[in-house]
Amino acid sequence: MSEQNTFAGKCTCGEIRYRLTSAPMFVHCCHCTWCQRETGTAFALNALIEADRVELLAGQPVVVDTPSNSGAGQKISRCPTCYVALWSNYGGRGDIIRFVRVGTLEESFRLPPDIHIFTSTKQPWVELSGTTPVVEEYYDRKQYWPAASLDRFQALRR
Ligand SMILES: [Zn+2]
Ligand SMILES: [Zn+2]
Repeated sequence: MSEQNTFAGKCTCGEIRYRLTSAPMFVHCCHCTWCQRETGTAFALNALIEADRVELLAGQPVVVDTPSNSGAGQKISRCPTCYVALWSNYGGRGDIIRFVRVGTLEESFRLPPDIHIFTSTKQPWVELSGTTPVVEEYYDRKQYWPAASLDRFQALRR
């Protein structure tokens, strides 16, 4: 695996260190009110990636059951010492796809959003421009994901 396609990450105290072993399938910038509350700010930035492409290098996260917008709940993996959230798993799919918090990556600038979602509740001062798609609620994966990412997603379901 080439170093260019890996992404190193850590919690604030440094106890947890991890690495994405490839680029993610897709990156969400979520403006829903749940993400606003969880982050304490205007949106969350999540990189969607296969769980087996998240390599734990140091420490062991604690998994916290947390309510979610869908009602199905989410499991948030946090550092057991500083409690920074590193990634989530949603709903009934188990730990197949992780939503990695892009801000915990050392080079987070390498993963800008591929889409803005739930912008019906975005903060009015957040101005979105440019070519990144914007949707008011959720979206159809087939409409927005690149073919290679759809293939990776399909491979997970088999
Ligand atoms: Zn920590
Ligand atoms: Zn959200």
